[in-house]
Amino acid sequence: MSQTATMNIPIARTSLLEAEIQSVLEPLRSGWLVQGPKVREFEEKWSAFTGAQHSIAVTSCTNALHLSLAALGFGPGDEAIVPAFTWISTANVIEHLGGKVVFCDIDLSTFNLDVSQLESLVTSKTKAILPVHLFGLSADMSAVLTFAAKHKLSVIEDAACGFGARYQGKHVGTLGDTGCFSFHPRKAITTGEGGMVTTNNVELAIKLRRLRDHGAAMSDLQRHLGARPYLLADHPDAGYNQRMTDLQAALGSAQMERAKPIIAERQRLAAVYDRAFEGLDWLRTPVTLAGYEHGYQSYPCLFQPEAVNIDSISRVNDQRNAWMDKLQKRGISTRPATHAVHMLSYYREKYGLKPEDFPAAYSANHCSISLPLFNGMTEVEQSYVVDAVVEGFK
Ligand SMILES: *Cc1c(COP(=O)(O)O)cnc(C)c1O
Repeated sequence: MSQTATMNIPIARTSLLEAEIQSVLEPLRSGWLVQGPKVREFEEKWSAFTGAQHSIAVTSCTNALHLSLAALGFGPGDEAIVPAFTWISTANVIEHLGGKVVFCDIDLSTFNLDVSQLESLVTSKTKAILPVHLFGLSADMSAVLTFAAKHKLSVIEDAACGFGARYQGKHVGTLGDTGCFSFHPRKAITTGEGGMVTTNNVELAIKLRRLRDHGAAMSDLQRHLGARPYLLADHPDAGYNQRMTDLQAALGSAQMERAKPIIAERQRLAAVYDRAFEGLDWLRTPVTLAGYEHGYQSYPCLFQPEAVNIDSISRVNDQRNAWMDKLQKRGISTRPATHAVHMLSYYREKYGLKPEDFPAAYSANHCSISLPLFNGMTEVEQSYVVDAVVEGFK
């Protein structure tokens, strides 16, 4: 028998308890399938956990971002600032509303917005900023909020990866005008597809609830619980259909019962990696900053941080890719942490952008690497990854 049998370790693995799987049957049996009692229950648990005053379940984080911009009156010709290193949809929603995307470079040490560059990006058309709490680490929100207040900008937090992430003790998504979360399977809580908008502004909450449900002044559930369920609602807005199903909400609501253990397990796994890789000068692990609690949606590292500069990026990129290949052959899946949106052909061509226009995002695109981290990862699996990483890339 071979002493080093190859394991198969994905970048992420969905981890649902039997009771959570069973919870999906409840709405199926009750017959209320869409935006009913289970959606309301999930929203209430989300508000209780994050401290947000209002939570509005939708079909994805992308749609949460889109609804937020629409509810805040963002429209054609308006400009919004987004980090150049994020998932593409943070920028796409601006395009969908006829706006102009204004990229801001990132700080390579956090992978989040480089707030020192924000002032240089403002024009008379700037209306919004979308800070991203990438991989579960909050953006520098005090700088973002000060900047936004000075220029009267809406703040839409892309908290897709932000479950469990706190800034100065506050859960992300509760600091700006709205916070937008994702329940895609790569995120810590999943409903297959799904999203949540949080806000502390009651007027905005009313608007968001209307916009997700065809612009209706009253939801079907409210109407059915009210005195005259047989009359239809008025529609003050031309809204969208972004309603979550009760099947999804049941799954999300059931996982919220172990919200704290889910986050604690991810933090424990991250701490094991942190300790194991402390001595490796060629791999920079995620930063831990005072006043920030990391939710570890993933475990993003920077490969050869000392060697990364604008001239060496492609060489370091080749070495990183060779290392990823070596790990994959051992059955260990890794990924670039995410992509630099300004380098993707739609944005590159439309806005005439070059990779070096946002050098830190370019470096992160080419030299970052996320290691497997997921709920239910066993000690044996993690040790296998640790041993392979410590062995080195050569
Ligand atoms: C996952 C993710 C999204 C998109 O979320 P969906 O629910 O898939 O629409 C947006 N922004 C960031 C930063 C993400 O990681």
